[in-house]
Amino acid sequence: MTDVAATDPSVPALARLTVLAGPTAVGKGTVVAELRRRHPNLFVSISATTRQPRPGEVDGVHYHFVSDEDFDSLVASGQMLEWALVHGVHRYGTPRGPVQDRLNAGCPALLEIDLAGARQVRRAMPEARLVFLAPPSWDELVRRLIGRGTEDAQERERRLTTARTELDAAGEFDHVVINDTVASATAELERLMGLSS
Ligand code: 5GP
Repeated sequence: MTDVAATDPSVPALARLTVLAGPTAVGKGTVVAELRRRHPNLFVSISATTRQPRPGEVDGVHYHFVSDEDFDSLVASGQMLEWALVHGVHRYGTPRGPVQDRLNAGCPALLEIDLAGARQVRRAMPEARLVFLAPPSWDELVRRLIGRGTEDAQERERRLTTARTELDAAGEFDHVVINDTVASATAELERLMGLSS
């Protein structure tokens, strides 16, 4: 796939949007947490969501937890870079302003979103770098989903159904990173984003 930003001298190499997507329980959150630990100043977008906070989740830190009405008006006023109904239940979206500000300032930005959202970003910002985080195998993905124990059986089934479709879409991405170990996947993402020292 053509790397637009790499060939356009007006786009600084680092000031690119990177989108990380991948199936449920593949470990996106863990890899992003490790990347932030290594690069505390890296901008990672905070999504808005209509789902309820889980225990320990803090509004404005993990997500902006908003009502259905607030989400509607964010979309209607064009303030969402992308948004999607995820796992057929709740809506999640990326507030456009903070991402754009960061890129305008010449800094990289990272989104951790679902496949539908990644496709919207591709259309809206073709220069974005799309990275797919894949499990080492299907069995390992199922094992990780059961192991984290945050979903009941019905929700797990729903997520695994979505995951099959998502895995089929890996070829649409610029890069596929296998999340074998957190260290290796993070190092690969770091390299792709030009953050390695
Ligand atoms: P969770 O409810 O487990 O926090 O997240 C569920 C899914 O929502 C994850 O797969 C995550 O990638 C996706 N997600 C989180 N934020 C966004 C967002 O802003 N936009 C889109 N399209 N998906 C998101």
